[in-house]
Amino acid sequence: MSSPTASLAVPDATRPEVRAFLSGSPQLFIDGEMVDPISGKTIPVLDPATGRVIATAAAAGIEDVDRAVSAARRAMEWGAPWRRMTAPDRGRIIERFARLVEAHSEEIADLEVLDGGKVRRAALSVDIPLAIRHLEYFAGWSGKIEGNTIPVSIPDTMVRTEREPVGVVAQIVPWNYPLLMSIWKIAPALAAGCAIILKPAENTPLTGLRLGQLAFEAGLPKGVLNVLTGYGAEAGEALVDHPGVDKVAFTGSTEVGKRIAARAASQVKRVTLELGGKSPNIVFADSPVEVSAKGASDAIFFNAGQACAAGSRLYIEKGVFDDVISQMSEIAQSLAIGHGMERSTQLGPLISQRQHERVRGYIDGALDMGATAVTGGSARPASANPEGYFVAPTILTNVNDSFAAVREEIFGPVVVAQPFENLEEIAQRANNSPYGLAAGIWTKDITRANRLANMLQAGTVYINMYGATDAAAPFGGYKQSGYGRDMGHANLESYLETKTIWTNLA
Ligand code: NAP
Ligand code: MG
Repeated sequence: MSSPTASLAVPDATRPEVRAFLSGSPQLFIDGEMVDPISGKTIPVLDPATGRVIATAAAAGIEDVDRAVSAARRAMEWGAPWRRMTAPDRGRIIERFARLVEAHSEEIADLEVLDGGKVRRAALSVDIPLAIRHLEYFAGWSGKIEGNTIPVSIPDTMVRTEREPVGVVAQIVPWNYPLLMSIWKIAPALAAGCAIILKPAENTPLTGLRLGQLAFEAGLPKGVLNVLTGYGAEAGEALVDHPGVDKVAFTGSTEVGKRIAARAASQVKRVTLELGGKSPNIVFADSPVEVSAKGASDAIFFNAGQACAAGSRLYIEKGVFDDVISQMSEIAQSLAIGHGMERSTQLGPLISQRQHERVRGYIDGALDMGATAVTGGSARPASANPEGYFVAPTILTNVNDSFAAVREEIFGPVVVAQPFENLEEIAQRANNSPYGLAAGIWTKDITRANRLANMLQAGTVYINMYGATDAAAPFGGYKQSGYGRDMGHANLESYLETKTIWTNLA
């Protein structure tokens, strides 16, 4: 519990309302109010750029999960305000929620930086506008969810379908985009009329909690959106196991995703999984070097490589390999590393000490096996706070497909680059991964690009661009990158059941 007298270890630029929020007592958002955790447990909240504690969050225990699930179930009861509300009115609340996120942009940006180590400018120009747009998009769907009338072979019989909310959903999200990952999940579930228990990652509890408050302010009835900060092993598992939870929507690692799917299976719970990736980014020789070098750099260095779809396996056609790598190296060296609150910063820290060690371990492991760090490496970048979890943008060459750094998701600003010779070869190598989240193709030859796009096993393929997302465009994985889709109409479907109603008209 932070004492009000202790001065917070936050940068001077931190807004007063954010300071107030950070020094609040550690509570959970349940049934429309902030409440003390029954567990009595807490989580220290660190600023990854300084390694210092900036707040204390509550760690929900089993009884807190029970309490939140009961609140959500009450909200879903027949006749409760949320169930009685018309679909267009639901949409209006989601729209108001969008406007509140917009009005609180500066505050949310601070939280994203301090809690998640983000670059403030990126939070304001990417994460927050995308979150707002996402809410707007799903606000629009609320009033457009329709059933069908079905022509059947039995005379004097009417058959119609109703689309109903799946019920109470647990949404478990990671730390790499605390705002966006939460909004990706919350918006479609609200549009469908579900009640939610959101569990943010232990490393980034703050944004989700603030979102719960804002959504309530926007007019959501009590219990429709509950936010339980807490640990995955305790609060997360309790949510997955709780018989009052109808669906689990999860974004995170493949390892945890498998565990969740297995546990949920015992109750035949609906599950959607957005998991890890090791996405191939393929550069052909006809793509202008400056274009592909910039594209390939952004694909791996944005958000310090902590993006599920990061273009982390780079394949460059033989003739231009050295040119592309040398331009990428220049770009990497030009990136200003620092605290995300500073205006000049382009690359922030990794999320935690643990990730810092993990990512540096991959770099050292590759170097031990004979890789070359063209730029970067595991040494702490000289210009950054030595207490923060910074890793320099790193390009590894002289690697092959047997390296752990090539096969496994690193989740840091580290790209492994290899040359390739032709299209058939590269399609096969690109697909040689248990993952299938995204892929990139850089070429002027659009016919070839589309042919390769069809050959790739990936949920999203980018041609001459990388990493864009849009509320309307489905996003998710093939293979062990998960199942189900975030965004688009496909996502809404995963929060709906179909009820078939038969009437004898005779
Ligand atoms: P993670 O360890 O799997 O955690 C994700 C969430 O699950 C966190 O809230 C975590 O809580 C919780 N959790 C952990 N163990 C759990 C359990 N046994 N039961 C229920 N919940 C549990 O993943 P992460 O390290 O935070 O995030 C990085 C991963 O997310 C990467 O693999 C990345 O590719 C993936 N990701 C995928 C997408 C996508 O759309 N496909 C998007 C973003 C990230 P704690 O915080 O307490 O561990
Ligand atoms: Mg944090």
